[in-house]
Amino acid sequence: MAENEHTPPLGMTAEQFRRAGHDLIDWIAGYLEHVEEYGVLSPVEPGQVRRAVERPLPAEGEAWPALWSDFQQHIIPGITHWQSPNFFAYFPANASYPAILGELLSAGLGVNGMLWSCSPAVTELETFVLDWLVELLALPAHFRGAGVIQDTASSASLCALLCGREQALDWRGNTLGLADQAAPLTAYTSDQAHSSIEKAAMIAGIGRENVRLVPSNAVGAMKPDELQRLISQDRSAGRQPCFISATMGTTSSLAMDPLRTIGRIAAEENIWFHVDGAMAGTALACPEFRDIGDGLELADSFCVNPHKWMLTNFDLDAFYVRQPQRLTRTLSILPEYLRAAQSDEVVNYRDWHIPLGRRFRALKLWFVIRTFGVEGIRRHIREHVRLAGEFARWVCEDDRFELAAPPSLNLVCFRLKAGDGPSEALLHALNRSGRIHLTHTRLSGGYALRFCIGQPRTGEPHVRAAWTLIAEAAREVLED
Ligand SMILES: *Cc1c(COP(=O)(O)O)cnc(C)c1O
Repeated sequence: MAENEHTPPLGMTAEQFRRAGHDLIDWIAGYLEHVEEYGVLSPVEPGQVRRAVERPLPAEGEAWPALWSDFQQHIIPGITHWQSPNFFAYFPANASYPAILGELLSAGLGVNGMLWSCSPAVTELETFVLDWLVELLALPAHFRGAGVIQDTASSASLCALLCGREQALDWRGNTLGLADQAAPLTAYTSDQAHSSIEKAAMIAGIGRENVRLVPSNAVGAMKPDELQRLISQDRSAGRQPCFISATMGTTSSLAMDPLRTIGRIAAEENIWFHVDGAMAGTALACPEFRDIGDGLELADSFCVNPHKWMLTNFDLDAFYVRQPQRLTRTLSILPEYLRAAQSDEVVNYRDWHIPLGRRFRALKLWFVIRTFGVEGIRRHIREHVRLAGEFARWVCEDDRFELAAPPSLNLVCFRLKAGDGPSEALLHALNRSGRIHLTHTRLSGGYALRFCIGQPRTGEPHVRAAWTLIAEAAREVLED
């Protein structure tokens, strides 16, 4: 440090931290107020940020102002501004002020909530807030007291798959491994499901070869008769089906799998039934969108990401399991050093996910739900769905364009009628402009641009301006 021979134990004096911290909060507030003024997509070339920050490992500590200035100069140019109201790519990653404060407090407390006794508030607030979420999203009542916060939907789905595997093996896989397993295990999800399901099967020792990608229909929803056919085929071949994952809102086009029919098949076949509602699950907050959850009460597990569309900073996935003892039986291992006096009376979340250590994530969701209230969260969702409807209308009214899939909640997939090449050229032109950011997918009809509305500050003027820009860029692409 400039003033001291040695760096203080916490890296700064309390006074230096106060000053830097106040400035930092000011900066973040200013950043979020003016984020619209940045080019949305970072323009840097591969390797550019690394070259800019590269220097010898510091032998002695440096003072904060040097770090801060390098952040401004070298890091900001390499940031793609997900919080921009002109960000329409992938899916949203909502940030909000109360959630940021929750993150900051969690960092300030610096606790690890692996056991109840490691900080009782971490566990008890988490169970409570996840019960609130059951009420907010009108989830099945058996998910009360049965929720856990995971980092991502990918981790939650992996845990669900492990439960399905162990249930099918009568919990012998954990002990004996899969090597002696005579009947290969199989898992089912649609050809539109998120790649995290296949990845989970890779990690869980099921193998990608044993994942059946069930064909989807014209709008991207799983065909249940195909599911039934594949399960029967596998059973006749001596394989052992163990896991079905349905998607409430696919990543490509936000298609909704028919949960009730799939759930009935799962129940009849005695196969674990997981529902992945990573983004669309948040829409369950609004009674008028609850048809997407029809049949959810048949699910053994469900995950939703408040870190996508529910105003809560990344990362926070809410994962629910009917009869959570099936989850803890799958994941529990108890070395002597983790034995705690209260093991039988309290929840010890270390057994509910893959890592041992866990952050205090519940704080930010608690702050978000209290700050916005049910109505505030509903307004946020409804406005995005309304704007997506407007956008879809403009696409249909312009005869150079067509919808590539039925608009679903806050997502519109569209393309140029001129075909894949011009549609792809349009996407690149839009992203190069820096003014908006969109991504693409491939649907049965070919290449499609995805326009996903989910940022808290995206309003009608942003969507209108984006459409104007798209229409102009299309003219240039089609003239070339
Ligand atoms: C975004 C998404 C995921 C992956 O979410 P992570 O939390 O990043 O793992 C999984 N499934 C669906 C349907 C998604 O939309």
